[in-house]
Amino acid sequence: MERGELARRVFEAGVVGAGGAGFPTHVKLAAEGIDTYLINGAECEPLLTVDQHLMEAEAPRLVRAAASVAEALGATRAVFGLKKKYRRQIDALRAAGGEVAEVGNTYPAGDEVILIQEVLGRTVPEGGLPLLVGAVVNNPETLLNVAEALEGRPVTHTYVTLGGAVASRGVWRVPVGTDGAELLAAAGGVTEDDPAYIEGGPMTGKYRFDPHFPVTKATKGLLVVPRTSALVRYETLDVERMLNQARVACCQCVQCTLACSRNLVGYDLEPHRIMRLLAYGPMGLPEVAKQAFLCSECNLCSGLHACPMQLSPRRVNQVLKARMREAGIRPDFPRREIEPRREQPYRQVPSHRLVQRLGLERYEGPSPFRGDLRPSGDLTVLLKQHAGVPAVPCVAPGQVLEAGALLGSPPEGALGARVHAPLGGQVVRVTPEAVILRPAAAGQEG
Ligand code: SF4
Ligand code: SF4
Repeated sequence: MERGELARRVFEAGVVGAGGAGFPTHVKLAAEGIDTYLINGAECEPLLTVDQHLMEAEAPRLVRAAASVAEALGATRAVFGLKKKYRRQIDALRAAGGEVAEVGNTYPAGDEVILIQEVLGRTVPEGGLPLLVGAVVNNPETLLNVAEALEGRPVTHTYVTLGGAVASRGVWRVPVGTDGAELLAAAGGVTEDDPAYIEGGPMTGKYRFDPHFPVTKATKGLLVVPRTSALVRYETLDVERMLNQARVACCQCVQCTLACSRNLVGYDLEPHRIMRLLAYGPMGLPEVAKQAFLCSECNLCSGLHACPMQLSPRRVNQVLKARMREAGIRPDFPRREIEPRREQPYRQVPSHRLVQRLGLERYEGPSPFRGDLRPSGDLTVLLKQHAGVPAVPCVAPGQVLEAGALLGSPPEGALGARVHAPLGGQVVRVTPEAVILRPAAAGQEG
């Protein structure tokens, strides 16, 4: 298959990165000059197990799909990057004929800049994309959705880890648009009296106090933790209060920079300097503030791991990035030779130590696949579940749709992704943000 045909089918199926910001996959797959298709199976966020499940259960399909994608890209190599400890998954992928590169059991091994450096020995330029070093990177769930797209099926479901303080932990296959509270009910309910909810992993996920939110194509996990935990305090602190704390409490001890995963890669990112700028200079001085664009938001610099003053340079970077984007400042950096820091091998954070530090050991353990979740309520299918602009809806209230019917497409030429009906049913409402769909009773959908 030609690269253009691959990108077209993936666009039509609405495939986006299954996790993170949901970058539209067809854009990545249209890249030229690629020699390696790298499947990011490092899954390094504590408690998340979706990709581990898929790499074991769907190994032959993933290996075949990876070979097809590599061929279409003109790449000479399709390689899966996994942590050494994922033995069953490594064995399954190898038994299916896949090439596997083993990386350390550290956090954040799944940062694609770090994975590319470990597996390929190449460093993505500052502010650049993996394609600049000849690589396209997808995670296993995204690859599975590409495989579905090649067989003509759009993205209608996502795999979600339900973990933390729930009665039955595990992985469910969930229709996009399902309410988070339905997921918790499927997991037997919450076992914590005063809970908070994390959509995604504890280090980089979205923290919520309300479980009612629509699952998107990028939802990888729903974790329940005590509202009183340090994790929740850091991630939900009011931004202005957090900035004020940062101004008065940073003692310039440099611990955040020593721990910074992107600094260890060799990037010119020194969170302690950004914190100093915040304390003594006006927000937005570009020469130091621009470093914030290099931040992966891995969270190792914060009091969860490094900062003795319980600050969060990561959240400062988030604010800076948003303000610079609003001001039209772009993440462009002069090209230079980048070498990993000599101390990088000794400063990586073992995954098990991070779990202990976060107080999450009690939630570790088996996370079996529990099957398909059938929601009882309406689905709220967001028109923007991805990086770029929202899809423009093409359905109207009252319309009866089959599963997989097109709900909306991005405007011609704009960065975005299509969205489809996760189940057969009737359109209840269409808003600028979402299509609300009432699923037909089981067995009656098209
Ligand atoms: S670790 Fe904390 S106190 Fe030390 S320089 Fe960084 S932000 Fe400041
Ligand atoms: S979150 Fe902190 S440690 Fe991670 S890349 Fe950003 S500045 Fe570095």
